[in-house]
Amino acid sequence: MKEKTEMGGDMEIKTVGVVGAGTMGNGIAQVAAQVGCNVVMRDIEDTFVERGMKNIDKFLSRSVEKGKLEAGEKDVILARIKGTTELSQLEDADFVVEAVIEDLDLKKSVSKELDECCRPEVVLASNTSSMSLTEIAAATSRPDKVCGMHFFNPVPLMKLVEVIRGYATSDDTVAIATALAKRMGKVTVEVKKDSPGFIVNRIMIPHMLEAIKIVEEGIASIEDVDTAVKNGLNYPMGPFELMDLTGIDIAYFVTEYFYKELNKESKWVSPNLLKTMIRAGKLGRKTGSGWYDFDK
Ligand code: NAD
Repeated sequence: MKEKTEMGGDMEIKTVGVVGAGTMGNGIAQVAAQVGCNVVMRDIEDTFVERGMKNIDKFLSRSVEKGKLEAGEKDVILARIKGTTELSQLEDADFVVEAVIEDLDLKKSVSKELDECCRPEVVLASNTSSMSLTEIAAATSRPDKVCGMHFFNPVPLMKLVEVIRGYATSDDTVAIATALAKRMGKVTVEVKKDSPGFIVNRIMIPHMLEAIKIVEEGIASIEDVDTAVKNGLNYPMGPFELMDLTGIDIAYFVTEYFYKELNKESKWVSPNLLKTMIRAGKLGRKTGSGWYDFDK
């Protein structure tokens, strides 16, 4: 299938490269394979690649049990995904999504490696939750072909993709990333300016920080804050449940980045309780112990 670009060109995306086989990477690999793309999913260690493949298998098996997918379709989807630790395996990718951890220096070095390995016309998208696409793009020789493609967790279920422009991102690049996201069945929004946290996290992080401060000040318990938000605001999850799912470390990295980038305003100072969670290694989905465990 060809992704139509705004400039009228065609961009055929047969193979999607995914860098990082963690929570987001394996979800992105799965949705790409579900719409017929071949996928090369790269991580740095075999165990991480295997864990990513296992997660995809588990998700698809549940879909088969629920009658949403034929058993044969599951095998076809899995067969489209090749897991690897070799960077060179990405050289045939027609489009790459980077989903390594939220660390700007790492994202820049991965983008540089991808720039050297992938064909010059290939779009390099980053799934960063908050960071500057302009800076990530500047690490490459193709800043016009770098954009943000912010998927949400869990990727196969969450509908939104924010497509983010860096300073030099071309209209074609935005059109190609948007078309691919739509092909994956996603709803897209365009973030026109490279600004920390884009739309969703700029709105969500203050909610999380206020929730932590309420607990820190002894105003209410973790459980009651979540109960209040779910029943008073009609949100499907409370802020603590959401942080446990998406990763408390990510909430912390994004908050620290906001503080640095958004004029060091006091509203973006990480609450002590959030720092304590990080220091205690209670990172939510990664360790299986998060806010609710901490509250016991
Ligand atoms: P994760 O820790 O689950 O996975 C990251 C993976 O990247 C790990 O498996 C790690 O081994 C791998 N990695 C590290 N260096 C690498 C390299 N040089 N090459 C290849 N792989 C490498 O993290 P995650 O939750 O999947 O988050 C990934 C990105 O997605 C982050 O930028 C994060 O902010 C963003 N994001 C996360 C969520 C969420 O809810 N977790 C939601 C939206 C966006």
